[in-house]
Amino acid sequence: MIADLCKKMLGKSLWLFHTNCGACNGCDIEVIDVLTPYYDVERFGMKLVGSPRHADALVVTGSVSRQVAPALRRLYEATPDPKVVIAVGTCAVGGNIWFDTYNILGGADKVVPVTVYIPGCPPRPEAIIYGAALALGMVPKKVKPQHEQHVPRGFDLDAYIAKWQDTPVVAR
Ligand code: SF4
Repeated sequence: MIADLCKKMLGKSLWLFHTNCGACNGCDIEVIDVLTPYYDVERFGMKLVGSPRHADALVVTGSVSRQVAPALRRLYEATPDPKVVIAVGTCAVGGNIWFDTYNILGGADKVVPVTVYIPGCPPRPEAIIYGAALALGMVPKKVKPQHEQHVPRGFDLDAYIAKWQDTPVVAR
């Protein structure tokens, strides 16, 4: 259903806003790689934009820390509908090796709804392009989604985000 909606609303041009929630930069380098002349993802109408308000899709890299979670939620809310969220790399998909540590909530889906998961540490540029094409409904999905919920014991994520909702990001 999301693929149909994306196909209808976004056509074949996907403007991306990239956010690093705590990545080691390995995934970020691969995201940049898809924009280089070698992979040239702009030929598919995809390009990076400087504001979530101009974007159709959020590209999230890195496992989500407690500190960055409210900012990620605000980025998601600032992105106009219809929108998709693409989690790039095993950290953004599920937290990677930090998924159960004291300051990491897990993958991006702990804070925002994720449309496409692109695993890999880091994923190859071809996988990122495939994921973006998947979000647009241009290629078929190859695996069924499996949902696993994990948030540190006793941690109320929504209350935590609500607490920081009105605080300017620079003041944190
Ligand atoms: S998935 Fe691997 S390369 Fe990507 S941010 Fe995490 S540790 Fe770095």
